[in-house]
Amino acid sequence: METIIQYFSEMPVPHRSFLLVGGLALFFIIEQAAPLFKINYNRAKHTGLNLFFTLTTVIVNFVMAFILVHSCAWVTENEFGIIQWIPMPLIAKAIVGLMLMDLIAAWFAHWVEHHVKWMWQFHVVHHTDQHVDTTTANRHHPGESVIRFIFTTAAIFIVGAPIWLIFIYQSASLVLTQFNHSNIKMPTWLDRSLELVFCTPNMHRVHHHYRQPYSDTNYGNIFSFWDKIFGTYSRVDNKKLLYGVDTYMEGKEHKSIVELLKIPFLGYRQPVEYDKEEVL
Ligand SMILES: [Zn+2]
Repeated sequence: METIIQYFSEMPVPHRSFLLVGGLALFFIIEQAAPLFKINYNRAKHTGLNLFFTLTTVIVNFVMAFILVHSCAWVTENEFGIIQWIPMPLIAKAIVGLMLMDLIAAWFAHWVEHHVKWMWQFHVVHHTDQHVDTTTANRHHPGESVIRFIFTTAAIFIVGAPIWLIFIYQSASLVLTQFNHSNIKMPTWLDRSLELVFCTPNMHRVHHHYRQPYSDTNYGNIFSFWDKIFGTYSRVDNKKLLYGVDTYMEGKEHKSIVELLKIPFLGYRQPVEYDKEEVL
């Protein structure tokens, strides 16, 4: 445990980059070999667009990283935050800390983005993707990357997270988001067993269905139980899903970097009202 913490306290930049590139490459290859939905779109163009937004996400986080470093140092020195206040062994600190970081910085941040209109205007860019695959994972408008960064910083203070915990959290969060967005077909037994603890692709896909109420379910990133605890869990037949978001279905509105960058500033678009309930 001590060695793991030592490693994550000083996780080298090349190792972090390797996780980003290696994770993407791994799921990209599996998608090619065992896709759930046939890949019948211009994959190169789609990947290029999503990698642009992955790059802006990396840049925003890199530029603001010093804030995280200082926040972690502050909570550690002042013994501030939940895992600092409650005495527990190191391994428990790591597990409880990881769970709470996932709850506040991912699940709750994501839930808020769906319920506060101006935040939704940024987050909707992620939902405009009509071909969800592993490259969709970090398709975030730079404005959304800033919003998520603020939630992560707040979570550090609430949790009392040391820097090693943030490196563990960010590494797990990255790999899990690449995994749960990937277009891979998995055997039911594997999916069901993993879903007892983690968010699998089968669980997350419904969140990318084009209309509510389905798009307002399964907000989770690392752990699957937050949605079950807070009543936002759903399970549907993935084959019936239609990706995208009803307010931006027109191709020209979301197939170029410039159009996507403009979306948050076009004003709030009311979700479409449907006559009939949809049962998936
Ligand atoms: Zn969402």
